[in-house]
Amino acid sequence: MKRKLAFIFILISIPTACLAWQQRADHAIQVRLDTKTRTLSGHLRLTYHNNSPDTLNRFYFHLYQNAFKPGSHLDRLRRAYGNFSIAKLPPQDWAWIKVSSIRTESGQSLRGKVDDTILEVPLDEPVLPGEVARLELDFETHVGRASYRMKENHGQYVITQWYPRTCVYDEHGGWHVDQHLGHEFYGEFGTYDVQITLPAEYVVGATGVLVNRPEVLPDSLVAELDIRNFKSGNHPKTQAPGQRHAGKRTKTWIFHAENVHDFAWTADPTFRIGVAHWQHVTVYALARERKAAKWQDAAQVGAEVIAFYSKHIGRYPYPTMTIADVDEGMEYPMIVMCGGESPSYRYLFYHEIGHNWFYGVVANNETRNPHMDEGFTQLLHTMAMDSLIPDFGNRDAYRWKGWYARHFFPKQNDRLYRQFLYLQHAKIGYEQKVDTHSDKTLERAMYRLVAYNKPTTVLYALQYTLGRRVFQRVLQTYFHDWKFRHPYPRDFQRVAEKVSGWDLDWFFDQWWETTWTCDYGIRRVRNRPAPSGGTDVAITLERKGLAVMPLDLRLTLADGSVRRVIVPINRFHKPARGALVTAPWDGWFRLDATKTVRLHLPSPVRKVELDPSLRLPDTNRLDNVWPRHPFPIRVRFDNMFVTAPDLDRYDLWLRPSLMINSVDGLRIGLHADGSYLESPFSADKKLLAGVHAGVKSRNLQYSVLFRTPWRTFGGLANFVLRSARLAGREVHSVGLEATYRKLLQYPPWTQVHLIVQSSKLYDPAYLAVPWEPGRDYTLRASAVRGWRWRTVNQTLSVRLTTSLLRSAHQYTVVSAEYLAHGPLGRSGEVTLRLFGGRAQNTTPAQERFFLAGASPVQEYTNPLYRSAGTLPQRWRREGHVLLSGGANLRGYGPQNRSGTRAAAANLTLGHRKPLDLLVRALPVVSSFVQPKQAYFFADAGDVWTEGTHFRLEADAGIGLALGLGFVPPRLGRWALHLDFPVYVRRPVASEKPVVFRWVVRVETRAGNL
Ligand SMILES: [Zn+2]
Repeated sequence: MKRKLAFIFILISIPTACLAWQQRADHAIQVRLDTKTRTLSGHLRLTYHNNSPDTLNRFYFHLYQNAFKPGSHLDRLRRAYGNFSIAKLPPQDWAWIKVSSIRTESGQSLRGKVDDTILEVPLDEPVLPGEVARLELDFETHVGRASYRMKENHGQYVITQWYPRTCVYDEHGGWHVDQHLGHEFYGEFGTYDVQITLPAEYVVGATGVLVNRPEVLPDSLVAELDIRNFKSGNHPKTQAPGQRHAGKRTKTWIFHAENVHDFAWTADPTFRIGVAHWQHVTVYALARERKAAKWQDAAQVGAEVIAFYSKHIGRYPYPTMTIADVDEGMEYPMIVMCGGESPSYRYLFYHEIGHNWFYGVVANNETRNPHMDEGFTQLLHTMAMDSLIPDFGNRDAYRWKGWYARHFFPKQNDRLYRQFLYLQHAKIGYEQKVDTHSDKTLERAMYRLVAYNKPTTVLYALQYTLGRRVFQRVLQTYFHDWKFRHPYPRDFQRVAEKVSGWDLDWFFDQWWETTWTCDYGIRRVRNRPAPSGGTDVAITLERKGLAVMPLDLRLTLADGSVRRVIVPINRFHKPARGALVTAPWDGWFRLDATKTVRLHLPSPVRKVELDPSLRLPDTNRLDNVWPRHPFPIRVRFDNMFVTAPDLDRYDLWLRPSLMINSVDGLRIGLHADGSYLESPFSADKKLLAGVHAGVKSRNLQYSVLFRTPWRTFGGLANFVLRSARLAGREVHSVGLEATYRKLLQYPPWTQVHLIVQSSKLYDPAYLAVPWEPGRDYTLRASAVRGWRWRTVNQTLSVRLTTSLLRSAHQYTVVSAEYLAHGPLGRSGEVTLRLFGGRAQNTTPAQERFFLAGASPVQEYTNPLYRSAGTLPQRWRREGHVLLSGGANLRGYGPQNRSGTRAAAANLTLGHRKPLDLLVRALPVVSSFVQPKQAYFFADAGDVWTEGTHFRLEADAGIGLALGLGFVPPRLGRWALHLDFPVYVRRPVASEKPVVFRWVVRVETRAGNL
């Protein structure tokens, strides 16, 4: 039955109008998997139809796996970014494809030339236009350990990009022979007949229809492997008896697919099978047995979304779809590899299955134009989420299960979230144009921006521009016209122009070809009684960005009625059913940067909203409403885990705060965290504030930090204001904090801080360590440079603190710190720190250098160390509680002293292994803390003052670093260090140099407390 089906499906005519030639490549492959050597041995018979008007003198094939062995272009590229993951692979873990023989139809041998991931085969006889060529190739493919997608994982094989795949020859430049640099692919359409031979116990899922189902997957075996038998999830990992194949050691699975441009498969002995149907389509879910209980509805979810896309975009043209449980998310024709579990896997399923429309059927050059498959697919999956699971909300909320997440995590719309991610980057000028070759994107974050988040945002902007109905027709027509073909960006534009009837150069030029941003605002609105009755309304709009868009206004009148107003641009009139249409507004840059819209309305306008549908990618929406709200703020509860930022409001997150110290006893307060379109790199009007009251002391305290971009000093420069009366100190400061970097994810970078500060002690009882009173005025400057040499990350920091006029203490402190951190062997790490500093003798105690750790001023920045009584005071006195800093000789806690000179070297050699063993022995530990590493450390150096001498002190010991994963991420990343300085060169009088000692450090980065 199935066999017949396989041959009768897809007799779909290729659209002819205005479309030119396209090549066709039919593949017949026999392949055998050797699970002992992780090697595939295959024979490929290629039938190539030269439909082009050109004579071909050579062929090209992709040998993708060759990228994953040392010396490849990809390896060299990775090393240039400090990634040695391929370079360091042992030979048995390299991936490769070797072609051992190439023959023509007549049996003549051809010699191929391999250049990394491209095989070039010069032909003795050229292939003329309209001719069919046949080639036979023998190949061997090794499954490596560093490939992105092909892999072996606990006996599961994911076999992708595995055979010599014909390069595409198309109208846009002939052959496309891009080396594989870790991005995506491009293949020629054709028929695939593939026979896979492998150990009998394996269950296989693949592109195509299983032709010999009765033989390899008889009904009796299907019944045994039925996913419904594995609902409870308590099954030992077993093989069904039927998986052994009548005494034979191997089975051969035969698949047939038509009109596909690639073939992928996966095999696992523990696959359990779910089945669902939609019309002509059978959906298979293959779940590993251990996941089967959580994959019960997988096939059904697949069938639902296939129905959705078939209805809204175009009919799914293949008879089957397989969803395979693999730890990743990757699309192939008729098969998708998806991780996760119910219900959150819907997010990934919708995306990867959606790719069968844009990538699978409409098959753009993914290497050249990643936005055409990723951006379009993201649009589809967002549409599916909106429609099929409207209150699914923030996918993070589904990762965090349980009561707290259900009640306090915000729901987030995926479309708005994508737009938010685009705006975040656009605001700091971090962009390449969307039409950028994937290999020419500067780094991973940029690839995500140009392939995913910006194109999705732009497609919704196109929906805003054309109107929902026309946009839907554009998508459907594009799918229909380019089915089984290779479109380029202008082809989609042409479809959009044909369907809408408008020239859309202005839209696609600015959004695909430039990095212009869009920013409109409402400047003012005037209502004047008209002499003839009613009201004359004048709305003045302004354009602040370079991008030009038609505008959509919603007016609310005094009589309660609502009017929609469209402000078109010259070259394009937005559909305006039921709307008032004004005269067009064009211009560019300074030309006509403002426009006053005049309307005659029955009653005065009370409210004007620009783009109420939130589809215009406007970088500042706070001025998109009139009357401008004095405080356009949305206040919500800060759950400390997940935020869902707003596009049109300033977000303010509030939560209670609790702290303990010896003066206040319990200190209770309210913490506020606000910003507009916040990103890890910059935030508009970032506010961190707290008001606190001491229960015992009755003291009221506060702290405020305000940070906002100061672009005079660069895209990532901020103006910063701090003011606090907190824990015994009053500190006010103002200054500049700037970062300079080309790439967001990779060094080098430079950070510069320039701060003027006034500080005063108002209650010494709060402080855990001695502090000199008096009001000080200081200038604090620092420059930090970060760079990477091979795999070693290094930073050099130089800091200067100097007192200003009228300061109670007159002093200057200068220090420099060099840090190098790199890998050591397979899972080891090494850190070297060199530190030196010099201060004037008049420097107050809190600013001096300390022998065992950080100075009081540094400790004050950590909320746990700020006040006496938060951490056990006796431990602090006895030197058991320290914070890294100063000379960092952690064994000298009990005799910690300060000086105005410091010189020290600290070395740490760490390894993961010992802690992993500890966790295995005490699994309860890992539910509270994440073991990071066990390490050996050695410190040497001294602090001294002018007039005394450097005297070498040294200590050494072992330690453990544990991540405090239970602390919510918004409170910073916290780590607990337990140090045991067993050797101290000059211990306290009562101790021997070698004796058991202990020190606790609780370190934080980027705390938000
Ligand atoms: Zn994708």
